[in-house]
Amino acid sequence: MSRPTSRRHNAARVCTALLTLALGAFGTARAGCFDVKNAQFTRLRPLVSRNAEKALTAVNRLLAGLPADAARTEPGRLAALYAVQADAYGELGLYTPARASALKGLGLLPGRTDPLRLALLSDYAQSFKEPAGIDQALGLIERARAAQKRASRNDICLQIVQGYMNQQRDRSGLATRELTQAYLLSASPALAGPRMDAASLLATTLRRMGDVDEALGLIGRVIRWDAARGSASNLAIDTYKQGQILRTMGHFRRALVSLTRARRISLSQGVHQGVAYADLRICQAEIRLGRFTAARRDCDRAAPVFAAGNATDMVKETHALLARIDLADGHAARALAMLNRVLDHGGKDMVAHEVAPAYLSRARANAVLGNYRNAYADLQQYLRLYSARNQAARVRLQDALEVRFHAKEEIARNAVLRRRLRAAALRAGRQGQLLHWIEIASIAGTLAIVLLSYILLAERSHRRQLLRLANEDNLTGAPNRGHTARLAAAALQSALARNRPLTVALLDFDHFKEINDQYGHAAGDHVLREFARLARGALRATDTLGRWGGEEFLLILPDTTIGSALSSIERLRLLALGIAPHPGERAETWPRVTFSAGLATTAEGASTLDEIVARADAALYEAKNAGRDLVRIDRESCRNAANGAPI
Ligand code: GH3
Ligand code: MG
Ligand code: MG
Repeated sequence: MSRPTSRRHNAARVCTALLTLALGAFGTARAGCFDVKNAQFTRLRPLVSRNAEKALTAVNRLLAGLPADAARTEPGRLAALYAVQADAYGELGLYTPARASALKGLGLLPGRTDPLRLALLSDYAQSFKEPAGIDQALGLIERARAAQKRASRNDICLQIVQGYMNQQRDRSGLATRELTQAYLLSASPALAGPRMDAASLLATTLRRMGDVDEALGLIGRVIRWDAARGSASNLAIDTYKQGQILRTMGHFRRALVSLTRARRISLSQGVHQGVAYADLRICQAEIRLGRFTAARRDCDRAAPVFAAGNATDMVKETHALLARIDLADGHAARALAMLNRVLDHGGKDMVAHEVAPAYLSRARANAVLGNYRNAYADLQQYLRLYSARNQAARVRLQDALEVRFHAKEEIARNAVLRRRLRAAALRAGRQGQLLHWIEIASIAGTLAIVLLSYILLAERSHRRQLLRLANEDNLTGAPNRGHTARLAAAALQSALARNRPLTVALLDFDHFKEINDQYGHAAGDHVLREFARLARGALRATDTLGRWGGEEFLLILPDTTIGSALSSIERLRLLALGIAPHPGERAETWPRVTFSAGLATTAEGASTLDEIVARADAALYEAKNAGRDLVRIDRESCRNAANGAPI
């Protein structure tokens, strides 16, 4: 069969495809899963992975040399040639002719368990790249599997094809299930080939799902196997995968080692597209290490190879990286021009997950150049794409973990295996958790960036909203401490300037800990929230009740003497007593909610805010000491009042 491949090219590009497709072929699995006994096939098939174009020429020559009645006289031989032809077309990404060859071959062979027929069927199935076609082909494979002996080589190879095709449909969960089963069922030495096929594909799926430790372990095993078999093309691909996994894990230096090794093997094999892919990933890792000069050299090397193969998506990915390097080097205008070209179709011709970062880069370039409106638009687009992607990743991870659990449960037949699987599941769980936190951290990071950007860029109404959020206490909606202090300082200044009285009061709820302890923290929150809400309705527009600390409020009363302040506080006292019980609590058992208060007022001349608040605090302390549910007035304020100061 042709190997399950992970080319990213679709049939529409077939005409221009020769070079392109070879590019996409980098990252494929391996040859010959089915145990085809046909001599023709065994001789020619290895050539396909070494040099598909050459294999195609050879097979075409052989086909041309066959007698006209070959279909009748030697159908097996003819079908084998079609299978090699289909493989070669597939390897080159020419899916329409690949499908035609596979169909011709299938027409020649009866028998539901003939490995050659199944190889042809797999070629046929894998020639579909559109979702509907893939799904239909998956149905065919499923039916073919039903005719095989369970856990036979045929069955396992078909299952690997299913896994690969589900991977292409972005059904990571299902893909993981199929590939894990295939991997675990092919434990016998005779099935080492299929097992490594499954492992190599599984490593890719696991990496995409964030299960990177597992992916790394698997690919290490595959690489050792490749090396032992002297299979250079597989070794290049799997070492490249190893580099990708390490990059995903953030081990950029180790990733560079693997990617450089993969590059060297591809170079020695003359697989230029493999070299270009390695260059691109090396460039990416170097950017993360801050080595921009080296990164530029490697991206510059990759871009023309992708361009020659008409691999637009890869060209754009490389150009987006070059723009990032430009930005880091201070060439914002050049970066912007390049990103404008990269995003000229809104990212439709790019690899999906590369689109959001390109918008972020362009937002940065625009901001550096002072194009704030454009920067803002790019940022919004980035966020939209980013959160959609995060959501998709979360769903994929959940899906995958669940399916993986079931797949393993089904297979785990003996205790040893079960124990091993449990350990793996634990590890997977931890990784899931980690991913969850990374996601939260990255969302928080993004929010911080966005908030900053808003402050820099946003329209005035946005800015007002942000300011409100920055000044408000979350729980009560009252001004928070910082804002309260600013309001109080302003009120004090105004009072002094106008020679008007200002009174402040510090309010502290009595035995608040007991409310929390007896009725729960939510009930405590309820009291604070209700108090602030009721107070807002009971105070003048010029008065301020700010949250000063836990269950402490600062009341600022401009143009108010001690006498009228006392009546304001009395109103608040009654409001506190009238706070409705927390939902679920009964009125009869709801506590008497009281507070103690300390009052202070402007003294002639000298007062600063700190001073006044300190005096209010001292008075509050006295109120607490005197038994609570009381108001005390600061001594100096009393004295001033007695002396006829404007209180
Ligand atoms: P006292 O009469 O001496 O003031 O007694 P108290 O229990 O109120 O003592 P203290 O001021 O030391 O404790 C305040 C308590 O208020 C402790 C803290 O857990 C609680 N608290 C602070 N902020 C919040 C909050 O936002 N929500 C809730 N539910 N409780 C809070
Ligand atoms: Mg208290
Ligand atoms: Mg307190």
